[in-house]
Amino acid sequence: LVVPSGPAEQENVAVGVRVRPLNKRENNANAYDAWTIHGNQITPRNQHVKADVYTFDWVFDQTATNAHVYDCLARNIVHAATHGFNGTIFCYGQTASGKTHTMQGTNKEPGIIPLAVEDIIRTTEEKTQGREWTIRMTYVEIYNEVVRDLLNPNNTNMRLVEQENQIIVKDVTELLVVKAKDVMSALAQGEANRSYGETDMNARSSRSHTILTFVIESYQVDNKNAVTSARLNLVDLAGSERAAHTNADGARLKEGGHINKSLLALTSVIARLADPARMHQHIPYRDSKLTRILQPSLGGNAKTAIICNVTPASSHLEDTNSTLQFATRAK
Ligand code: ADP
Ligand code: MG
Repeated sequence: LVVPSGPAEQENVAVGVRVRPLNKRENNANAYDAWTIHGNQITPRNQHVKADVYTFDWVFDQTATNAHVYDCLARNIVHAATHGFNGTIFCYGQTASGKTHTMQGTNKEPGIIPLAVEDIIRTTEEKTQGREWTIRMTYVEIYNEVVRDLLNPNNTNMRLVEQENQIIVKDVTELLVVKAKDVMSALAQGEANRSYGETDMNARSSRSHTILTFVIESYQVDNKNAVTSARLNLVDLAGSERAAHTNADGARLKEGGHINKSLLALTSVIARLADPARMHQHIPYRDSKLTRILQPSLGGNAKTAIICNVTPASSHLEDTNSTLQFATRAK
């Protein structure tokens, strides 16, 4: 059972680790659950394994629901976004660790995206304090450091341009969001566009990053100058497994290299943001497409949560350990 605990109020990067249940394949291969969780700490069961006791803002065991993860790590960022603060929520982890399950969920157990949309729409319908909101969404993929519009498959190799302190994906499709089901059908269409021309959908999805962005604007009805504008990014990252593990032919090595480039850039950006002593040093946003796109929504007043998904399987001890090390650098 998870003992509730939470991040300090003023913290801008919150880090959670989510351990999924063992799956059939792991069970069939006689893998066992190699980790013990106590409150917000996780440690290898087998004490002779060289690894630490890891402590995070949150550690979720296999009984945690998407709704619980949302309440702990996402809800306050979503609310802040409806009030003008940029925010980003990441799912990080090796392929098949539960990133998409956490982000999208299922009909029975909606994930962060549908829960966030519901929350945003509920807030905007309350019209509290005489405010009116406009919500738009964009959905892009970064594959091999190439940005593609998932809402219009003809938009490939898209340019990033700086505009009024924002980084804009030039000509990206923006959809007006009115109902939650608008978002879910656009995502399904985007998912279909993602497989455009691909023979191996799983391989592609494990090597690309997807960024769903809500641009949320509001104004005071009796004072149109009282405008807020914020971006909320929900990011399903490429698999974090190392290139060494991917039986690489030439093409794969190249892709692996790009994934590492974006994840590496993200790792160093997040590490700087998490460390107040280093925050004012140069932050290498320009080192990858991923960090450039997210730059306006990381650091400063922006709020960030990282959900590090792991498998408990003994057969993946090293991958899980390397995810926990990433998570440690991020907190
Ligand atoms: P990733 O996106 O990291 O590659 P997925 O989210 O697709 O991984 O998860 C891989 C498989 O594990 C899927 O079949 C998914 O339904 C299942 N799974 C992941 N997390 C959970 C969870 N917390 N509870 C139950 N099943 C899960
Ligand atoms: Mg996935």
